Amino acid sequence: MVSGKTVVITGGTRGIGRAIAEKFFSAGNKVIVLYNSSDQEAEKMKERGFYVLKCDVSKRDQVIDTAKKVSEITKTVDILVNNAGIWYLIPFEEFDDEKYRRMLEINLNGAIYVTHAFLPLMKEKGGAIINIASNAGIGTSALGTTFYSITKAGIIILTRRLAYELGKYNIRVNAVAPGWVETDMTIGGKSEEEIEKLRQWFRERTMLHTTGKPEDIANIVYFLASDEARYITGQVIVADGGRIDYLTHGI
Ligand code: NAP
Repeated sequence: MVSGKTVVITGGTRGIGRAIAEKFFSAGNKVIVLYNSSDQEAEKMKERGFYVLKCDVSKRDQVIDTAKKVSEITKTVDILVNNAGIWYLIPFEEFDDEKYRRMLEINLNGAIYVTHAFLPLMKEKGGAIINIASNAGIGTSALGTTFYSITKAGIIILTRRLAYELGKYNIRVNAVAPGWVETDMTIGGKSEEEIEKLRQWFRERTMLHTTGKPEDIANIVYFLASDEARYITGQVIVADGGRIDYLTHGI
């Protein structure tokens, strides 16, 4: 059980981040959500008692400024979830410098900026950092994920390095690597027919023949943040229903 803690979640107004925010909120935690463009959703969450702050995590000055604002709300942060992310599906031969740069800036640099800026609020008491990676960061056959995967592989090594460097502050750092979860990222703007085709593609490559829900990921984040996980750090929990299309010697 995680209750009475202060939790910061990036990208917490939609998708997986939203499910994480709701999970901690309903358990009685102070939940501070950072978002970039979902103003309306942010407003609604604010009315319900969430703290919401607009912050583009890829802009270091905004992140530093936001950490300062958070320090006026709370003296300490117990749990930090680096969730904000975007993806563009780009086959290698169609390399697009701008899209690649944007993914790196948000998915990887954003997590670095946020962790660095919020660390002073976590160091004294200790706590937990959970990064949202992806099974793409290990390498799957999902089409077009080459460049996105690079950003998520970066998150995985960042997780291990931070666990190593921040252990002395009693800060545990772990990652969750989701498989295919239905959110705006994966199904936004698609027809029902296109979505069903995608579901089928992933089901055929998944031991449990199913796809993921944001809550599946939120439950793991919640566990990793809890005292029950006090002996776990530097780990990557893959939650993908048992995908079988990893790029190894397997199949
Ligand atoms: P989503 O529904 O598209 O939500 C993305 C979230 O990231 C939104 O809350 C968005 O905020 C925020 N965000 C994007 N750019 C931002 C920026 N520059 N600064 C601050 N926030 C920003 O995506 P999702 O599926 O929930 O993905 C959440 C995380 O899970 C991502 O890191 C993603 O890579 C990872 N993941 C997803 C899947 C999947 O299948 N869905 C699988 C593996 C990993 P605004 O709405 O305010 O712009």
